[in-house]
Amino acid sequence: MRKQIIMLPGDGVGQEIMEGAKAVLNAVAGEYHHEFVFHEHAIGGDAIDRYGTPLPEETVKACNSADAVLLGAVGGPKWDDVEPRKRPERGLLGIRKSLGLFANLRPVTGFSSLVHSSPLKTEIVDGCDILIVRELTGGLYFGTPSERRDEGNSVVDTLQYTRAEIERIVEKGFEAARMRSGHLTSVDKANVLESSRMWREVVNEKAKDYPEVTVEHLLVDAAAMKLITNPRQFDVIVTENLFGDILSDEASVLTGSLGMLPSASLRTDGVGLYEPVHGSAPDIAGQDIANPLGMILSAAMMLRHSFGMEEEAAEIERAVNETLEGGFHTVDLDLKKGKIVGTQDMAEKVIENFSTKSISNAICSSYM
Ligand code: NAD
Repeated sequence: MRKQIIMLPGDGVGQEIMEGAKAVLNAVAGEYHHEFVFHEHAIGGDAIDRYGTPLPEETVKACNSADAVLLGAVGGPKWDDVEPRKRPERGLLGIRKSLGLFANLRPVTGFSSLVHSSPLKTEIVDGCDILIVRELTGGLYFGTPSERRDEGNSVVDTLQYTRAEIERIVEKGFEAARMRSGHLTSVDKANVLESSRMWREVVNEKAKDYPEVTVEHLLVDAAAMKLITNPRQFDVIVTENLFGDILSDEASVLTGSLGMLPSASLRTDGVGLYEPVHGSAPDIAGQDIANPLGMILSAAMMLRHSFGMEEEAAEIERAVNETLEGGFHTVDLDLKKGKIVGTQDMAEKVIENFSTKSISNAICSSYM
């Protein structure tokens, strides 16, 4: 299979972790006889420095004609004083919007070699495997009006959803649940919010199309509590934008390190943007110590969700697990034992753990 992949390294550790993911993808291409063609473009602070805007038109154009997009991270203290509409984060929100990405998927997988580095007790987090499906383009973050009033003495934000917007994300939740254990938890605040009552209505209607999936409704406050007291009760969680933002960050502590978490942002036709959950980590940038696994696992999600390459995705995930089991880790993972390696060496270790070793056959092309 031949696929065009846009790489947006962005800022801070973005470039370093992207190199790691690219090496792993090249190895996959060799092993499975695919051709991945990489094009690199600017976004975030890097784009501000080079083009005076966090999202150059050329980047948008390239992403719109690609099969998938990989993004490192954006932002950093260098651009903290830039005017709000030109901040690096605008690049990220802009590209998600331009690509029409409405579904954010965040898997939270507890790798057994990392369970003890979670702040939660091992018996609570061991074996937890959750997928959070978050609505990404509606709700409070995008509703208007959103403004100060009465000379700054009152304020309003707007939580708005159309039925169609709720339906398409709820469908993603059901689809994901069907492909996993067949259990979906829908999170809302239906005891207070009208938007949540409509959300619950839609979930119950859609449930009729997925008789093989069992559905549970949970209020967001209870969900937040159960995520840390009994995370193994969850499989797929589907929820709106704000609740998903908060719950997915809360769930990130289950696995022990921010550097481990991948994410995917999708639309209906399979085109997606894949990025680690963490930020640009400016405090460790340029030192070859960043954990590349969140980025590498994001690349695995790209293979699965945009290219339908389930076997290849699973191979990366298996190799990551084996690398950790073998004791290799970056400095952020508190493994107590094993060997600390740098960013690029960690990627190499993952490649070494591929089950077949035909990586010299890799067919790869790169363009700037
Ligand atoms: P951060 O995620 O960049 O860093 C938080 C802490 O985790 C830091 O100590 C950092 O060193 C560590 N860390 C993060 N990723 C790591 C990795 N791969 N390996 C090892 N350690 C890692 O969050 P922050 O410090 O709050 O934000 C820094 C910048 O990133 C800010 O400008 C922020 O706006 C931006 N940011 C961007 C995104 C994104 O691009 N999606 C997300 C969050 C924050």
